[in-house]
Amino acid sequence: MPKKSALSELKRRLGGSVATDEDSLYWKSFDSSKLAFRIEAVIQPKNDKEVGPVLKLANQYKIPVTTRGAGTCLTGAASPVKGGWVLDLSGLNRIRIDKETGMAYVGPGAIIAKIQQRAERLGWYYPPDPSSKKFCTIGGNIACNAGGMKGAKYGVTRDYVYALEGFLPTGEFVRWGADVRKYVSGYNMRDLWIGSEGTLGVITKAVLKLIPKPPCKWTLLAAFKNESRALAAVRALVRQRVIPSILEFLDSESVLCAESRTGKPLYPGGGRSAVLLLELDGDKKSLEVDRKVVLAWAKDRATRYSETYDAEEAEKLWQVRRQGSPAMYELGNTKLNEDIVVPLRNQGALMKFVMQLKRESGLAIPTFGHAADGNFHVNIMFDRGNKVQEKAAKKAVLKLMKTVVELGGAITGEHGIGLAKSPFMAIQHNKAEIAAMRAIKNVLDPNDILNPGKIFDRYVVWDKIPEKVKLPWDHK
Ligand SMILES: Cc1cc2nc3c(=O)[nH]c(=O)nc-3n(C[C@H](O)[C@H](O)[C@H](O)COP(=O)(O)OP(=O)(O)OC[C@H]3O[C@@H](n4cnc5c(N)ncnc54)[C@H](O)[C@@H]3O)c2cc1C
Repeated sequence: MPKKSALSELKRRLGGSVATDEDSLYWKSFDSSKLAFRIEAVIQPKNDKEVGPVLKLANQYKIPVTTRGAGTCLTGAASPVKGGWVLDLSGLNRIRIDKETGMAYVGPGAIIAKIQQRAERLGWYYPPDPSSKKFCTIGGNIACNAGGMKGAKYGVTRDYVYALEGFLPTGEFVRWGADVRKYVSGYNMRDLWIGSEGTLGVITKAVLKLIPKPPCKWTLLAAFKNESRALAAVRALVRQRVIPSILEFLDSESVLCAESRTGKPLYPGGGRSAVLLLELDGDKKSLEVDRKVVLAWAKDRATRYSETYDAEEAEKLWQVRRQGSPAMYELGNTKLNEDIVVPLRNQGALMKFVMQLKRESGLAIPTFGHAADGNFHVNIMFDRGNKVQEKAAKKAVLKLMKTVVELGGAITGEHGIGLAKSPFMAIQHNKAEIAAMRAIKNVLDPNDILNPGKIFDRYVVWDKIPEKVKLPWDHK
């Protein structure tokens, strides 16, 4: 059946929810990876009941459908690589908090920062905290199992999902789980959907777990002689059974980036050293117990440190973390923002490898990360158009992926695979593992219509970026 009739049928059934004008098509043809692909229609359902018919029609005519939330994904997971239709669920953004039970009932388009604000107003707390939280949606966070800075103490998105409702790729309605705290009926399909990058189903509702809001926060910024001392200090702290709500590591190159942006030293004493930014939260009494341990630890291991309970003072300490990322574009016009993860025991070895990679590639590779998780953003900076640097960047990223797997880690700790990491799947997984994943996809999506071309197909992605666009969350 010709594709034209599919589009007419879609318009007939969904009317005003379907856009085909050039502007709508353009803005939904890429995500934050800026990998853009030509599409035929954008569907913005007015309610979740409109989703099933879209998928049924797509199956009938074998039209690719890519679901999207805010499009902040960095890997191309929301880029419609096979064209077809984009199902934009950002408008399904309702949020209802049950203040008695501490559960949140949300639509897939609900923005993370808004869920957090609504919960906190009622004394509840939703901890997963991706840096993109002012823009990204809960549908995208669930589909990517998004993490953030609070992983070590509070876990990731997966740890806060009680139930999901939505549609199979074939268009049938399903509900995985319920708004109950215990649920073991049948296979855990809810967890299969979480992190499947929109390839196994479309989420139209979620029930989230909230926890009581921690009443107090305390912040410390500590400088260390070098990277390996800072990372050894992380392990020493965990050994003492202190798990901070935040423990951010920045190598000296990231610190220099932040300082170049603000034009002044941003941590105690200034100078070229690695830093840890630490936050404890909880009730005042237990927080004080941990604070004493942390202060003794800092006195012992850091060259200098500053601490505060005051929110305004804390914000000043945070500048070193907030200013670093945008300033990295002074080091190259393109960033390969890798999000690898290694076991804590191998953090030192990873950093040693990154230092060596900087030397041998000749590229700037400022590295920072969520140190208590072992999850690091290794930012390989290069100038697109400079053939020598492009080649060096490709070589560096491949070497990085091989090394993290050798160190017992993973090629991605929070952003997922999408298009950007698919060439490295065979480094992370053996044939049997990939075959098992593909088998699940084939059974649930026999016509391969839902977010096709992701996770398993290989692309050399940075050759396919057609043009430069600026997104609201871009630093430059
Ligand atoms: C500046 C910046 C900072 C970031 N920081 C972090 C961070 O700290 N931690 C982190 O984990 N990530 C981070 N990210 C990556 C990104 O924000 C996350 O991957 C986020 O989960 C994507 O959400 P989204 O709403 O933008 O989803 P999109 O980008 O629109 O989609 C992402 C994926 O989810 C699928 N999807 C979306 N909605 C649905 C749905 N309703 N049903 C099924 N599938 C769906 C899409 O098909 C796609 O595969 C950052 C990105 C940027 C630009």
